[in-house]
Amino acid sequence: MIGRFADAVTRGVGDMTASVTEVFDPTVRLGVTGLSRAGKTVFITSLVANLMDRGRMAGFSPAARIDTAFLQPQPDDTIPRFEYERHLAALTSRTPHWPEGTRAVSELRLSLKVRPAGMLAGMRGPRVVHLDIVDYPGEWLLDLGLMEKTYDEWSARALNRLKDWGAEAYAAALADVDPAAKLEEPTAQTLAATYTEALKAARRAGAYDLTPGRFLLPGELEGSPALTFAPLPPGDAPRGSLRREMARRFEAYKSKVVQPFFRDHFARLDRQVVLLDVLGAIRRGPRAVEEMRAAIADILSAFKPGALNWLLSLLGARRVDRVLFAATKADHLHHTQHARLTAILDAMVDDARRRADFAGARTEALSIAALRATVEEMREHRGESLPVVRGRLLEGGREAALYPGELPPDPSHILTPAMQGAEGWLEAEYDIMEFAPAPLTLRPGEGPPFIRLDRAAEFLLADRL
Ligand code: GDP
Repeated sequence: MIGRFADAVTRGVGDMTASVTEVFDPTVRLGVTGLSRAGKTVFITSLVANLMDRGRMAGFSPAARIDTAFLQPQPDDTIPRFEYERHLAALTSRTPHWPEGTRAVSELRLSLKVRPAGMLAGMRGPRVVHLDIVDYPGEWLLDLGLMEKTYDEWSARALNRLKDWGAEAYAAALADVDPAAKLEEPTAQTLAATYTEALKAARRAGAYDLTPGRFLLPGELEGSPALTFAPLPPGDAPRGSLRREMARRFEAYKSKVVQPFFRDHFARLDRQVVLLDVLGAIRRGPRAVEEMRAAIADILSAFKPGALNWLLSLLGARRVDRVLFAATKADHLHHTQHARLTAILDAMVDDARRRADFAGARTEALSIAALRATVEEMREHRGESLPVVRGRLLEGGREAALYPGELPPDPSHILTPAMQGAEGWLEAEYDIMEFAPAPLTLRPGEGPPFIRLDRAAEFLLADRL
């Protein structure tokens, strides 16, 4: 900020007024995260479209005071821009399709011209508030836990997790190597590749906390030597040995990859939304739900005040004071079940707050659909009237009605078996199909249809406007 201010000063008085006001325009940095396919790209695209055309944003109290909303060049030149226009075109084309999801960090600045509220309304003109949206993979957020671990500690935990999630191939690869022997690069590469495959398989099965996050989503580090390490059982690590080199690369990953990410992106956020595919976890079964619950606690602890102090001497670090946990794709459920989905997420967040002894940011749980792809109806089935949702299937393009199963009114009927390590759900089966986005006919002033996206914006942004 000092740098930018100095720039403005040296540019002469003429444009100084403009630059100085820009420097002091209030800015809200909103982080959007969640594991791959949680719905980040769709969320940001629909949020921005609905902040630009606010016809559906009845639940967003500042909407009526916003004169205009427009995209501007973002403040950080080195971060890729979130490809809003391309993603919106995908969703709103004549043959709509889902955009490509988040692979790395990106940013978008939306500027809102807002009239003041309350007593100031008649006295002050509108002001501009910049909303900087930072999209980043949840996989990278979980890497924060690595910072306080040594290579041996991390290895022990990583090997244990793989045992839980079945990784015979990696165990077999380990059996073939002597970690105390001299490093041979092909061995390191094979181990890293086999370990990466094991992580991917565990993720598909519903495991959440899998590190290093860049092995799952490498971003710009695809193929880089920074990612050629893997966990090894404890033992001797003579100079030049495989084990010694793996430990060195692990430390380099922490200092060269994890730490800069937290310093440059995470530490500068004001607000955070964590998107969770809760329905997807329920469909996968109790183990996946339990993983999600544990992950919410890990994520929350990243937002604990002071959590980062030891990590970085943070110049101008901000503090996230609101974290929204949102269960995405709620349009897979009839609205009569939304409250139950929210109650399940709410119970997970509550439990995480208690476990993490979390007294920092305000948290909230919501069920949302950033882009509604279904319509609701009642269907007769074996003499019963079932509330279903109908849409066009992603695979095959056929219209289909979905009854995903009835969520229990009491969240403990989901969370308790999950915590107890049950193999499956006793009471019901849950099924989900994937729908394609529906063709849209938008009236002027309206953004794409959603469920409770306005409520999400209210919690995350309203008090700053
Ligand atoms: P990202 O990897 O977190 O960026 O996830 P995306 O935003 O790309 O979403 C992943 C997939 O989830 C999409 O391709 C859609 O299939 C689905 N999806 C995301 N949001 C919604 C939604 O609001 N409704 C429905 N029905 N599906 C969604």
